[in-house]
Amino acid sequence: TEDQLAARVRELIHDVPDYPEPGVVFKDITPLLADGPVFRAVVDRMAAAAPGPVDLVVGMEARGFILGAPVAAALGAGFIPARKAGKLPRETVTGAYDLEYGSAVLEVHADTIGHGARVLVVDDVLATGGTAAATVELIGRTGGEVVGLSFLMELTFLHGREKLAGQRLDVVVGF
Ligand code: AMP
Repeated sequence: TEDQLAARVRELIHDVPDYPEPGVVFKDITPLLADGPVFRAVVDRMAAAAPGPVDLVVGMEARGFILGAPVAAALGAGFIPARKAGKLPRETVTGAYDLEYGSAVLEVHADTIGHGARVLVVDDVLATGGTAAATVELIGRTGGEVVGLSFLMELTFLHGREKLAGQRLDVVVGF
């Protein structure tokens, strides 16, 4: 059941205190990714949570790629990598954002998200919501329509949801 999956997911996410800087508890998902049955169940669960038809999945570099690409394949949707600045070779649309630690820029190719495309955003962690909010804004500027966001986990104490008002959110586990 979903509760059993959530319990297993919790066990397989390792807390690393004070990484990458003091005061941050880093949620390490590599043990979860290394567990084949749980990885598959998580991907199936995140795909099943999609609110209606999805044309494209956008995953944020880098852990949004690991989860987003198999979710896209499970849905029969395309996959768009939202990459860190300077990695994409052609014309891009860019969104800047602040992180729980530091700040960054994400970009997608300007011509990859068609007008009216129904887009599901996938990432591992909803923390402050800055990354997700910047991604939603970026997708809007390319003409895509965000139909929902799907996260493996939410750090509820950071209230990232408040930056995503009006969006449909799905999370596998909350901390
Ligand atoms: P935010 O923009 O604050 O919601 O941060 C979300 C992004 O940063 C995601 O792409 C996560 O991979 C990463 N992230 C933020 N906080 C953590 C954390 N405590 N542990 C692991 N990854 C994190």
